[in-house]
Formats: sequence, C-alpha cells, structure tokens
Amino acid sequence: SLRAGIVGLPNVGKSTLFNAVVENGKAQAANFPFCTIEPNVGIVAVPDPRLHVLSELSKSQRAVPASIEFVDIAGLVKGASQGEGLGNKFLSHIREVDSILQVVRCFEDNDIVHVNGKVDPKSDIDVINLELVFSDLDQIEKRLEKLKKGKVKDSKSKLKEEAEKSGLEKIRQALMDGKPARSVGLTDYEKDAVKHLCLLTMKPIIYVANVAESDLAEPGNNPHVNEVMNLASELQSGIVTISAQVESELTELPSEERTEYLKSLGVSESGLGNLIRETYSLLGLRTYFTSGEKESKAWTILAGRMTAPQAAGVIHSDFEKGFIRAETVSYDDFVTSGSLAAAREKGLLRSEGKDYIVQEGDVMLFRFNV
Ligand code: GDP
Repeated sequence: SLRAGIVGLPNVGKSTLFNAVVENGKAQAANFPFCTIEPNVGIVAVPDPRLHVLSELSKSQRAVPASIEFVDIAGLVKGASQGEGLGNKFLSHIREVDSILQVVRCFEDNDIVHVNGKVDPKSDIDVINLELVFSDLDQIEKRLEKLKKGKVKDSKSKLKEEAEKSGLEKIRQALMDGKPARSVGLTDYEKDAVKHLCLLTMKPIIYVANVAESDLAEPGNNPHVNEVMNLASELQSGIVTISAQVESELTELPSEERTEYLKSLGVSESGLGNLIRETYSLLGLRTYFTSGEKESKAWTILAGRMTAPQAAGVIHSDFEKGFIRAETVSYDDFVTSGSLAAAREKGLLRSEGKDYIVQEGDVMLFRFNV
C-alpha cells in the first residue's frame, strides 16, 4: 500500500499522533489486519461508509477497507541535510514515502519544551523545508554534474537526458528561490525524466496543525493555525487541524464514551478519519469496489489513469494477464439495484473492455482466463 511519512521537529506531537493512528486502527480491526509492521510503521484503514452499504446489500461475510501505511520518521532536526543528528538517515526514509505529513505545533504548553523556545509554525515549517530543499539541491547538483560529463550509465536516450537536464535546471532555480520542486511547471517528458531522483520537495505534503483541545471547535481562532493555513496555500499543500492529545485520549476511552467526550469539546467526530481521507486524496488515490457474499472490498487505484486490466491487476497479476472484460456498475446504480444481477436486469450493468478507465466508486466483477 501507499506510504505517508510523519515528520516534524522534536516535541510537536508526532509520536502521539502516530500512536493514536495505530491504536485507533487496532480498535476498529474487526476483520482487517491492521498492524504495526515495524515499531514505526502502521497500516490503517481508509474510512469509507460506502463499503458498509455494499457489504450489507451483498450480505458479505466481511468488509475490507482500503489502507495506507503511516511511518513515524522521528529525528528530523535543523542541519539534517548537513548530516546533523541522524540527518541523512531520516532524509532517506522520507525519500521512500509517497507523501509527507508535517506535524506543526500550534498548542501552547510551558511544560513541553519547544526546540526553538517558542511556538512558531512559520519557523518550524521553514526549518523543515530548508532541509528538504538542501537535500534536493545537493542531489540535483551531483546529477547535473554527471549528466554534463556524459557519465550517466543508466540513460536511455539523448532526448531523455536533455529532458532530465532541462527539468533539473528548472527545479534548481525554484529551489534556490525557496520554492518546492512540486511547484515547478515541468513538461510530462521532464517530469518522467526526473522521477527516478525521488526528490523530497516533489512529494505532496500535508501540514497537520496540532492544536490544544480547547481550539478544536474553532481552530480559526488560533492565530498559529491561520499562519499554517496561509503557508500551506503558498506552498501548494494541504492542511488538517487535529489535536494529537485528544486523539490519543480517545483511543483509551470505551467507544460509548467517545461521542460524549467529543461533544464536550464541541466537535462531532475524531480528526483521524479526516486526516486519513485527506492523505488518500492528496496522493491522487481513488477507490473501486468488489462486492459479493464472501466479502466486499475497497481497492486502491490512481486517479484517472488506470485501465480495467490494470485495476484488476491490483487484486492479482493473473487477473490482469488473463483479463477478458469487467462487468461494471457505478456505486449509485448498484445501491439502487441492490446487486449486480439486478443491475444487469435493469440494463445498468456495463461490460467494459481493456481500454476502460476505471472510475471512482465503480463496482466491478472481472472475467478472466486462467
Ligand atoms: P514528538 O517528539 O514530535 O514525537 O512529540 P511527542 O508526541 O513525543 O510529544 C511531545 C510531548 O508533547 C508529549 O509530552 C506529549 O504528551 C505532548 N503533546 C503532544 N500533543 C499535544 C497536544 O496536542 N497538547 C498538549 N498539551 N501536549 C501535547
């Protein structure tokens, strides 16, 4: 599954958030292998009410949600790109994730030391951005050097090399201006040519504003949160407001007491669902379903680019190889009909071939040769 890395300065609430995400996952783990693979990696379900509707209609024995991996990447400090702390190790962990969640401290608490002495989201965001920018610049310089000397062994063609060079020059310029690589307008060709570098500032980032419980109901009243919002839009990033502390407390309450507690804080639901959904959508992920008596299941695909055979391949590579066609109905039509068979009778079931681009919410049944 896809990976989201939780980063941030020390003492901003990363571990608290990570543990809440994992604990919450475990609590809902009825039929799903939520688990912690390594101490700092947890798999969590993407909440989706549609899955339960499908599961009821098909009288499925179980409902299996889509999932994302969360990775707690502790230890990013100022100077990491220069090898401070365990710097480079952490940067290499970030290189392996598909998106970044930066926890930004927006809560005041004199008992909890802030590395810079005071709560200052702009400075926190700048510090981390600079580390990512330096690391990318370093990589780009080295790569450009090689390209210029014609020392690139892995290059496929002159044309691709040229695209890589021009792409990297553009990105370098942006980075020197303090702008992330993802903000640079590259041609598709350039994008493809620079992809192998896994640049850190190319990854989508969500700022997770960690607020005090008293700010949950009206986060906009907290000036720190407003600052994060402005920066997020400047940096073309997402923002989610959460209280890691509250999420952590929620995981320890019996479920019947949770609603009451949330109500006392002036909110109606835990912020984790929202965080997970935002991450999923920022990664450009979409969902299609399979639904039958054995199970109803949500499968993850990339937005707008996956053909029916590729989507079938998410289930099993044999489904892709032997693909014949896909019986397909939209989620809404499935719900009005009640089953694939009923949808067929109503003429709502489509038989799609190998060029069909799978749509959000499609309910599918694959026909394939074994
Ligand atoms: P990390 O270093 O970023 O992983 O931070 P931790 O999750 O270990 O949190 C550092 C300290 O801040 C711990 O004592 C947490 O209990 C506390 N903390 C985390 N989130 C909140 C919050 O929302 N409000 C308050 N008051 N304290 C928090």
